[in-house]
Amino acid sequence: MFIELAEVLVCPVCRPRHDEGTLQGLVAVVGELRDRKVIGGWLGCPACEARFPIRDGAVCFALAPSEARDRSGREPSTTESPSGSFGPQAETALLVAALLSLHEAAGYVLLGRGLGAMAEELSRLAPASEIVALWGREDGPVSPPSAGVTRLSDTPAGSLPLRAASITAAAILGAREDVIAEAARVLRPAGRLAVLGSSPAREGAVLSLLRTTGLDPVVVDPRGIVARRV
Ligand SMILES: [Zn+2]
Repeated sequence: MFIELAEVLVCPVCRPRHDEGTLQGLVAVVGELRDRKVIGGWLGCPACEARFPIRDGAVCFALAPSEARDRSGREPSTTESPSGSFGPQAETALLVAALLSLHEAAGYVLLGRGLGAMAEELSRLAPASEIVALWGREDGPVSPPSAGVTRLSDTPAGSLPLRAASITAAAILGAREDVIAEAARVLRPAGRLAVLGSSPAREGAVLSLLRTTGLDPVVVDPRGIVARRV
């Protein structure tokens, strides 16, 4: 985990229960640090005392079963979920870098579920950015730590453990309503979101969904829809 990322990470247990303004940040306890990357240690929440381990540079946000049950009351309202990975990694990374104009971007770039496998490729194309890749169990074992990439594993479905307006750009796979709403929340003003792998038949629905979450569609392409946070 890039050490400075701790400033924008928040507790997934407390986030749904507090307003942004009253939400406390996570405290990083560093075991092993290498080139500004926390390789081992944990993140602790001062409010609820949850602990999230950092192993091999990746933060694991898996919740204890009781906490996960607390949160399961609200089901996602649409069902277009990512499945598997999306196209060859090098090609997808080039597409994402182009759609999000990453050659000129600095800051955090979020990769949603199913896109994490191209994080290293994308990091090479966007050397000024830190790639923050969500990693699910379906993606297999977490890759070893690498420069320019931070992996967050087992984040709760439909909720991002990130502060509002903390991310420069994001790419997600599929057009799930709750995922788009969360991406819109964490994007900075003028930040760009790329929606990949949505079916052409849903284009109209996706565009109206983007608009209702405060995003302005700027590119509508069969390979991806890009919207800018207003
Ligand atoms: Zn907490």
